[in-house]
Amino acid sequence: MSAVAVISQSALTHNLSVVKRKSSAKIVAMVKANAYGHHLNLVMPLIEGADILAVSELAEVQKLRRITDRPILLLSGVHSSQELQQAIDLDCQIVLHHRLQISLIAKYDKAIRVWVKIDTGMHRLGLSQDEYQQCLLDFESNPLISIESVMSHFACADALVNPMNQKQLKTFERLTNNTNNRSMANSAAILSNPDTHFDFVRPGIMLYGASPFSDNDFDLQPVMQLSAPVISVKTIQTGESVGYGATWTADKATTIAIIGIGYGDGYPRHAKNGTPVLINNTLCPLVGRVSMDMIMINVNDVKVVIGDTAILWGDEKLRVETVATHSDTISYELLTGVSNRVAFVRGA
Ligand SMILES: *Cc1c(COP(=O)(O)O)cnc(C)c1O
Repeated sequence: MSAVAVISQSALTHNLSVVKRKSSAKIVAMVKANAYGHHLNLVMPLIEGADILAVSELAEVQKLRRITDRPILLLSGVHSSQELQQAIDLDCQIVLHHRLQISLIAKYDKAIRVWVKIDTGMHRLGLSQDEYQQCLLDFESNPLISIESVMSHFACADALVNPMNQKQLKTFERLTNNTNNRSMANSAAILSNPDTHFDFVRPGIMLYGASPFSDNDFDLQPVMQLSAPVISVKTIQTGESVGYGATWTADKATTIAIIGIGYGDGYPRHAKNGTPVLINNTLCPLVGRVSMDMIMINVNDVKVVIGDTAILWGDEKLRVETVATHSDTISYELLTGVSNRVAFVRGA
């Protein structure tokens, strides 16, 4: 008996169709971090249904190339001539976000397709406005380099009223108004502002059925359902505590189910007392600290026996966003953090 993550194929297809309903732009599906923790080989509907696939590192390009011939974009770009050669051998498009990368490709003597990333205010990756202008001049005289798209990334797209969004958008528009292919929108921008869609949208979290906002009225379906077996059931008395640190004490006789999943599987150790777990169609509160291999839940409200299955997230009744909120984190971290002790299986 172990924890299982079922990856729903129909939910992937559905969520991709939500992107298409929202925007007519081409779709760059974000499959970095092993498809946000869903495992590349289990997200074929995205791999086949998107226009381009994007990953962060060269090692991810290698893995992805083993399973598909589709176009791939390398978000971090390359950092040496060896990496450049590898990227070209793998037939992937590369992001240029730093001056040194421009000098690197300028020396290359064959055709190469790049995405140029501009920093419009997030101050993580991206060329400054001056560097971008210079880059355009340099490339004008180099017929080997073709710019597939110009891109930028929002710092605060999940905060709808943050003035930084408009500021970044205006900067991007001003710098790129003569440019045909542009890309700016992540999931939050796709869902909230059509003015950001341009020619390529870059959905990530929404493809996996989680909302980047605190609400989820977007008709997204959870893709990963994480479940684990009940491995013990017991009743404790008033005043008795549960788990490491004795952080939860029963105020009346309480039946506790012990579930075979813990932080060693990627269930968040910071999940607080009261974090919901779905069992036999009933939401039950987590009690006591999360252990490496187990969690305990209060099942006073539902009949539970050893061998029953508890759902940790990935159900209409219990979304990963809810568990994230109870753990002071975001759905992205929970999804990418499911460990390889968990059995991953393809679902319907
Ligand atoms: C990960 C990533 C995205 C997707 O972000 P979501 O919030 O998951 O939609 C888009 N663009 C870039 C550059 C990214 O790194």
